[in-house]
Amino acid sequence: MRRWSELAERVGATTRTSEKTALLAGYLATLTPEELPIAVVFLTGRPFAEADQRAAGLGWSAISNVVAEAAGVERDEVGRAYDRHSDLGLAVEDVLDGAGHAPPPETSPTLPEVAHAFEAIEQASGPARKSIILRDLLARSDPTTAKAIVKILGGELRIGLREGLVESAISQAFGRPLDEVKWAGMLTGDVGGTAALARDDALADAKLSLFHPLKFMLASPAEDAAEILRRLGPSVWLEDKYDGIRAQLHKGGRDVRLYSRDLHDISGQFPEVVEAARPLDWDGVMDGEILAWKDDVVLPFISLQARLGRKSPSDAIRAEVPVIYVAFDLLALGAATGGRADRDPEGDLVVAPFLREALQVRRARLEALDLPLAGAGGGFALSHLAATDTLDGLEAAFAAARARRNEGLMVKDPASGYSPGRRGLGWLKMKKALATIDCVVVGVEVGHGKRHGVLSDYTFAVRDTATDRLVNIGKAYSGLTDAEILEMTRWFEAHTIAQFGRYRQVEPSVVVEIAFDVIVRSKRHGSGFSLRFPRIAALRPDKSPDEIDTVDTVTVLYEGLQSGAEHLVTAGARTGPTRPAGPSG
Ligand code: AMP
Repeated sequence: MRRWSELAERVGATTRTSEKTALLAGYLATLTPEELPIAVVFLTGRPFAEADQRAAGLGWSAISNVVAEAAGVERDEVGRAYDRHSDLGLAVEDVLDGAGHAPPPETSPTLPEVAHAFEAIEQASGPARKSIILRDLLARSDPTTAKAIVKILGGELRIGLREGLVESAISQAFGRPLDEVKWAGMLTGDVGGTAALARDDALADAKLSLFHPLKFMLASPAEDAAEILRRLGPSVWLEDKYDGIRAQLHKGGRDVRLYSRDLHDISGQFPEVVEAARPLDWDGVMDGEILAWKDDVVLPFISLQARLGRKSPSDAIRAEVPVIYVAFDLLALGAATGGRADRDPEGDLVVAPFLREALQVRRARLEALDLPLAGAGGGFALSHLAATDTLDGLEAAFAAARARRNEGLMVKDPASGYSPGRRGLGWLKMKKALATIDCVVVGVEVGHGKRHGVLSDYTFAVRDTATDRLVNIGKAYSGLTDAEILEMTRWFEAHTIAQFGRYRQVEPSVVVEIAFDVIVRSKRHGSGFSLRFPRIAALRPDKSPDEIDTVDTVTVLYEGLQSGAEHLVTAGARTGPTRPAGPSG
């Protein structure tokens, strides 16, 4: 593990992509078959592969406690070090280096030993037991290795490595074509396994198996209709943008599972979708949105929140907030008779991927499945679809989508393939009357007046991709309900990294969608921007801090708003929900 940690340091020290790739490739080529997949997964900054359902379950505050204990310092010292660096890994190194305790151990644990310790932490129940395993692991590690372990556990490696770079390094290390590496990575959702296949010259064996979620294709924001047509036109597809929970549905026989955007299994939360899919007579993978839907009307996103984060809904909640699955894409289908999956020698159910086919082909396949529609008592809908090649058509469709109580439009290129994990230009999203940005909460304070005694003032940040750091963009104290504030107060209290008077620095995990009136350039915040009248539009428990907006997207939004390219957006704002109607079949 020490070699891994030193390599990570060197990769972090250079900003040149080609140098990073060369360093990584050289290192990967020297690893044993046992070490290779572990090293690669760690390089993506995670203790377990992204599609792995396991999580270490040890928060930053528990990690900080262990570090303080290992260094023999007060817990606040870790907080202060964190404040100096804005980076838990650097804070840990700082504290361990300056601790003046016994000389650091000469040996460090091996990669498989660290991987086993992570597994043991995952298996252990409760922070106390988990912390003991981490403490033992850190006690055997020199400061550089300890820092690396903490960074991986905290999910914040920050050495400027994107998965694409790791894929390039795999391709270079074993002399395999990059597109074959990428394709295998896409299908298996497992970079570690892909590295092993590349090493064994077996990339062609990569298969898409059911119940191994694919990464989701993402959309780029767009505000300006003319720009949209220029980019995707001449003719574009317009789907309603539903304000629900994105979910990938896997079906094999009577087994049905739903995966969230962060690839977690959320099937238990939406039993009616699972039940609706179970009797279908094919096996495959769909992409779509879970939508609160009652009496043939779309319910607002806020009502879905009652169903998030619970293992399974009570009968009362199911009755109050029923859901349907709005399908918009078919990603794979079984190739055996009747669209059934094949079982491979390892017992996995293998399906044929459609990712490289054009959207219009995938949509035709989806429609051919004849899903049982919600209007007729089934649990499904197909996304509302129209096509246009004019500005007027686009504006009218936006207003119509809003009238159907949906958030806006997803504009898609009918010829585009499905690119898992990419925020490409194949899909553009046009939302809401006013733009919103997704930020992560980095600090909280107790409020004033009626909000006295609860942590209601949030300081939030966007990501600076150049440095891979969080940079503040503003502060807001309105928008959430009292119940939400109370629930979040408990969470923030349990996840405080350091306290400075009224201000608590908290684990950057809670994503909030921020609405505002104007963006201005400002030196007040690290992002270089500030927002006029920022307010919290919604908590976004469905999003991870990896998905928040970046300084780049804020810049694009700022420039777009400057140039006044807003007519489309205003058209949506004028048209309130007039006619309750939802997705169509
Ligand atoms: P945003 O959450 O604003 O970044 O917008 C992207 C999200 O829109 C996706 O992750 C989906 O959850 C959601 N969405 C809603 N309707 C659609 C649709 N028709 N096609 C694709 N994504 C959609």
